[in-house]
Amino acid sequence: MSYQHQYVDGTRIHFPLGKVVCIGRNYAEHAKELDNPIPSEPLLFIKPGSCVVPLEGGFKIPTDRGSVHYEAEIAVLLGKPLSTHPTVEEVLDAISGYAPALDLTLREVQATLKEKGLPWELAKSFDGACVLPPFVSAGTFDDLADIGIRLTINGEVRQDGNSALMLNPIVPMIQHIAGHFALQPGDVILTGTPAGVGPFNVGDELVLELPGASRFEGRVL
Ligand code: ZN
Repeated sequence: MSYQHQYVDGTRIHFPLGKVVCIGRNYAEHAKELDNPIPSEPLLFIKPGSCVVPLEGGFKIPTDRGSVHYEAEIAVLLGKPLSTHPTVEEVLDAISGYAPALDLTLREVQATLKEKGLPWELAKSFDGACVLPPFVSAGTFDDLADIGIRLTINGEVRQDGNSALMLNPIVPMIQHIAGHFALQPGDVILTGTPAGVGPFNVGDELVLELPGASRFEGRVL
């Protein structure tokens, strides 16, 4: 199924999907669970738009390259370009919506790449490596430092975080990213995963939520 940005009410968002900019180790408890040091500046990587699939109807995971870990993350959709050093107001004005996303990771592949000091694309950018449900509008949240993110698998809550726990909060993070490379309408920022990551199995039934704002059901095919 091909992916197109849309809002939860079914409205299609006119700008095309761009790139997905991700931040690693943005929650201290998650850095700790993978035995990673907390970075002194945000650790960034990019997933190409080609790896994004919709949550609706279920999604496939690779079964021939070791475990595929789920990372539930607050996704921020941009509707305006941002570059150089945008102000707080410019960043807030550029945000079009929020969704609970899955940053899928081939964990053993990533461990091997990390050990060798190689880039992460083989572990993070495979087809289907980013799962996105529809977005709620930017006005949904008054306080960007209080957005929850929760993933439930087969009835059990596995990840339950809040943007309050981010090492780099949403707006300064986007300012930092835009200071390094241009962001365009249709780009998505994945803001890091809280603790509780683990492997998906084919057949898993999941619920992905921004608690109080949006809730989606999905399935690993
Ligand atoms: Zn992630």
